[in-house]
Amino acid sequence: LSMSDMIEAKRICVCVRKRPLNNKELKRKEIDVVSVPGDGTLLVHEPKQKVDLTKYLDNQVFRFDYSFDEESTNDLVYRFTAKPLVQTVFDGGMATCFAYGQTGSGKTHTMGGDFTGKSQNSTKGIYALAAQDVFTLLKQRSYAALDLCPYVTFFEIYNSKVFDLLNKKAKLRVLEDEKQQVQVVGLQEMYVSCAEDVIKMIEMGSACRTSGQTSANANSSRSHAILQVILRRKNKLHGKFSLVDLAGNERGTDVSSNDRQTLIETAEINRSLLALKECIRSLGMDSHHIPFRMSKLTQVLRDSFIGDNSRTCMIAMVSPGMASCDYTLNTLRYADRVKEL
Ligand code: ADP
Ligand code: MG
Repeated sequence: LSMSDMIEAKRICVCVRKRPLNNKELKRKEIDVVSVPGDGTLLVHEPKQKVDLTKYLDNQVFRFDYSFDEESTNDLVYRFTAKPLVQTVFDGGMATCFAYGQTGSGKTHTMGGDFTGKSQNSTKGIYALAAQDVFTLLKQRSYAALDLCPYVTFFEIYNSKVFDLLNKKAKLRVLEDEKQQVQVVGLQEMYVSCAEDVIKMIEMGSACRTSGQTSANANSSRSHAILQVILRRKNKLHGKFSLVDLAGNERGTDVSSNDRQTLIETAEINRSLLALKECIRSLGMDSHHIPFRMSKLTQVLRDSFIGDNSRTCMIAMVSPGMASCDYTLNTLRYADRVKEL
């Protein structure tokens, strides 16, 4: 990291990213209802109707730390969001970065990247970009003396159950000891010696995440995926970076489905996203009561919500199309509530 890249990490950073209209939306001639004038602002032009049935667009303005438009690259988004947090982890802190939004809004594209198989067409995501910077810093003289060892874990939380993505989706138990220390029993913590090691594990874990599914995005859109980069010094925890590709938030408003399994999933996702919001907010308020037990997601991230040296970043993803307008507004209202007061 060069000096100019050393943006100091805010305790809570909340950003929004708009993806471009996709081919399907273009074919349907969908109207783009989101505009990003820059400077952290974002506008949604919500279609509404007056009593006399004349239609109009209601402009709603949102402000965040940064707003990224459809032209923004993963590299740019990374530089202003997760990159400053790599520094936090080297300084012995705990960092988290969340991708939040409806299914199809670009969470996995942003975090995991798009691997097409052909390297010239693939886009690195925040996972890989952070891994690269971790190894750049490990080699820097001031940190080399610390003798830090990097490890990686990659797991998924689906319906309150934890599955190890680096160990054939083995189902794991979460235990809390008398000191409230939370442990995922048996989670594989892999030593990594270079960024390519990490990228291999991301690819392996991502393939594991989506395997055995009938439709392309079925289960993975209803689970949270967590990649952790852990730095140890003489086997003791030095710092940890948790990068989270959250479950799609759209099901809270989706009333079309009423089968039992979907309802259970919906309740579970809602609970965990509500818990997450509360935990991040208490981080900003120096609260002593952190409701991490409200969900498995916040429970396993407990140590990232305590301490003076905890930093978090949320990237809210939005789809630009008119058909997604309600979901987009939901996402933005949630992100707005997470902002530090
Ligand atoms: P999610 O994980 O939120 O369900 P994805 O990341 O899978 O959404 O994105 C859905 C589709 O949109 C994918 O085909 C992805 O490649 C594409 N996409 C998402 N964000 C962008 C972007 N910023 N630029 C180009 N394509 C994108
Ligand atoms: Mg996804």
